[in-house]
Amino acid sequence: MLEIVPVNAFRDNYIWTLRNEAYAAVVDPGEARPVKDYLAREKLQLAAILATHHHPDHVGGVAELLETRRVPVYGPKNEPIATLTRPVAEGDTVTIPELGVSFAVLDIPGHTRAHVAYYGADSLFCGDTLFACGCGRVFEGTPEQMYASLRKLGALPDDTKVYCGHEYTLANIKFARTVDPKNAALAALEARAARLRDAGKPTLPTTLGEEKQTNPFLRCREPAVIESANKYLGARLADPVRVFAAIREWKNRS
Ligand SMILES: [Zn+2]
Repeated sequence: MLEIVPVNAFRDNYIWTLRNEAYAAVVDPGEARPVKDYLAREKLQLAAILATHHHPDHVGGVAELLETRRVPVYGPKNEPIATLTRPVAEGDTVTIPELGVSFAVLDIPGHTRAHVAYYGADSLFCGDTLFACGCGRVFEGTPEQMYASLRKLGALPDDTKVYCGHEYTLANIKFARTVDPKNAALAALEARAARLRDAGKPTLPTTLGEEKQTNPFLRCREPAVIESANKYLGARLADPVRVFAAIREWKNRS
């Protein structure tokens, strides 16, 4: 039986850990120590490492984990990650036989040049591209690329569970409410997320269906979001990429 559990790293990173009774695979181990502790405590053997992009808070622990056991390391073919042994890109499949699970690789550039997502078992591991109620900063790609990547993820089934790389949900909701102030689903989400955080629990995973109801970066065709973007810009535009770019810039400055 496959289980997916968060291992906390740094201040707000999650190292998503896929596990059964004997084996585990980790997504984006930015540091090794918490993973090693978890594997030792649960008596699990590492079976694979998956990386979504090259940032150190996502791959910084890979080398040290490999010292304990040589396992395949999957990650984006076109990013500088020295520890990769299985470079992947869109169209590839990652199979972890020890866990009886397979993932399709999706190219989702924008946050970084060749960021990938892993989709399988009704779950999506999307690193720093899609966050609960938000999205990653556009560091290496263009707004066009980032928006296309978010649309690609948004086209997956609504019941897909979304496992993102950081616990940013409450701050994201706060911003989303300024952009989309009349959205009742957002108000409900804020209450639920606050309760979870008060109890020391992750707000993740969410689902793509919930994201489409609440995440302004997936709602760039909604009149309320367009209107807010126009107010911010002092302009009149409706092109979703430009709406996306405007609210991304607004969030960077807020
Ligand atoms: Zn990143």
